[in-house]
Amino acid sequence: MMALLEIELPVELQPPQKQIGQFIRRTQSICPECNRILPSTVFEREGKVFMTKTCPEHGETEELYFGSYDMYQKFATYWSDGKGTHAPNVPIESCACPANCGLCSNHLSHTGLANIIVTNRCDLTCWYCFFYVKKGLEGAYVYEPTLDQVREMVRALKAERPVPGNSLQITGGEPTLRPELPEIVRIIKEEGVDHIQLNTNGINLALNPNLAHILRDNGLSNLYMSFDGVSPKTNPKNHWEAPYTIESCRKANLGVVLVPTVIKSINDHELGGILRFAQRNIDIVRAISYQPVSLTGRMKKQEREKYRITIPDCIERIEEQTNGEIPRDAWFPVPSCSPVTHFVEAFTKRPQYELSIHFACGAGTYVFEDKETKKMVPIRVLGREDGRAELGHQQVRGCGEVHHQAEQFHREGQATGRTQPEQIARWRLAEARLQLGGTVPCPKHVLGHDALPGQVQPGRGTTTAMRYTLPYTGHEDHSILQLQRHP
Ligand code: SF4
Repeated sequence: MMALLEIELPVELQPPQKQIGQFIRRTQSICPECNRILPSTVFEREGKVFMTKTCPEHGETEELYFGSYDMYQKFATYWSDGKGTHAPNVPIESCACPANCGLCSNHLSHTGLANIIVTNRCDLTCWYCFFYVKKGLEGAYVYEPTLDQVREMVRALKAERPVPGNSLQITGGEPTLRPELPEIVRIIKEEGVDHIQLNTNGINLALNPNLAHILRDNGLSNLYMSFDGVSPKTNPKNHWEAPYTIESCRKANLGVVLVPTVIKSINDHELGGILRFAQRNIDIVRAISYQPVSLTGRMKKQEREKYRITIPDCIERIEEQTNGEIPRDAWFPVPSCSPVTHFVEAFTKRPQYELSIHFACGAGTYVFEDKETKKMVPIRVLGREDGRAELGHQQVRGCGEVHHQAEQFHREGQATGRTQPEQIARWRLAEARLQLGGTVPCPKHVLGHDALPGQVQPGRGTTTAMRYTLPYTGHEDHSILQLQRHP
């Protein structure tokens, strides 16, 4: 409460913070020591983006925020606020951010992926674990909600408006330590959640292959499995077990998302190797969700500089380590799919699931494997030459009959054995205009949409690129860097 009283001035009236570099904008942040809300300044220096803030008690904290100013500028063009959320647990009147998040109606985004912690126990004690599972191991306390409590939580999620929560991650600790896990999955499914993923180190699924079948039968959508590298040194967690886990999932037809926690100087040299591992298991690995480690400021500055790696840094490493197969301009920030959501909303006249997180909080791309050359082909080649996919830009808000046209376009391409993006797109546009009157805007944007599937070359193992964008980006953790392929 003290913290809130101390920032009565709006941020724009707060005194400027110390900065050495080019000013970008002012925002708010918190002191890593005392959580006091502080005005802060975002600025550019030597091609990178930094944030600085000064606590009256604990002094200045300056942190690297985004490792590439160029990428920051590109991503910022996709900034799109969401529609917020209602029926929250914490009413705005009692909101004391950041003390009682739960979620309150200050939020501009609805829940994208809800997390339910089913245990704080784990069979490992990874050195970087933020969960501090030792608490559970040492018997200090064990947190394990009952089945009834899990059901209550899911009901609270489904009660969110205007978009009921529909995507949920079961997490821990290590959730497979709970013998009731299959029952938990069944309850979540019963309550109407479409997508359920299991955050796990995978070890128990390697030891007990039948568990994958049981979980799949009860409604689990996929594993979200830790996978920090391709050597025992970078991945002491599950290097030996992971192939067996993947095999269990393959037999159960249960998709796997690989989740490397990326830490500079520890495993950032193996990001390309992880991608190759995924490629070798492309029949069952649905995505890689690279997670640059979150250092919350409770380490000494020297250590933070040693370990901190940001989203652009990972993107650049991936480019280097794939010999340019996945170039940096293949990546787009998560809210780049908002225009499609807005179009579907305009079309259906119903609020739709929307990924409106901050543009600097995550990035993604789709990659396809060329069956002949075995090279990865990212979605960038499907967009404009300047690397900006028309589909993801605000200019296209509300326009284009994306799904429908893309599918029809693909079918025609398959039937004729060739594609003529421009002609067909123009024809589709004219047709759509006739059907929808004023709701379809300018030709060049719709052309942008329709040109996408047309540029996927035959034999690359894909149908249409965008067809899967909405459901699948919706099913991932949005605050992470992810690579994704369609199923
Ligand atoms: S496996 Fe996950 S939950 Fe368990 S200690 Fe490691 S990071 Fe923490």
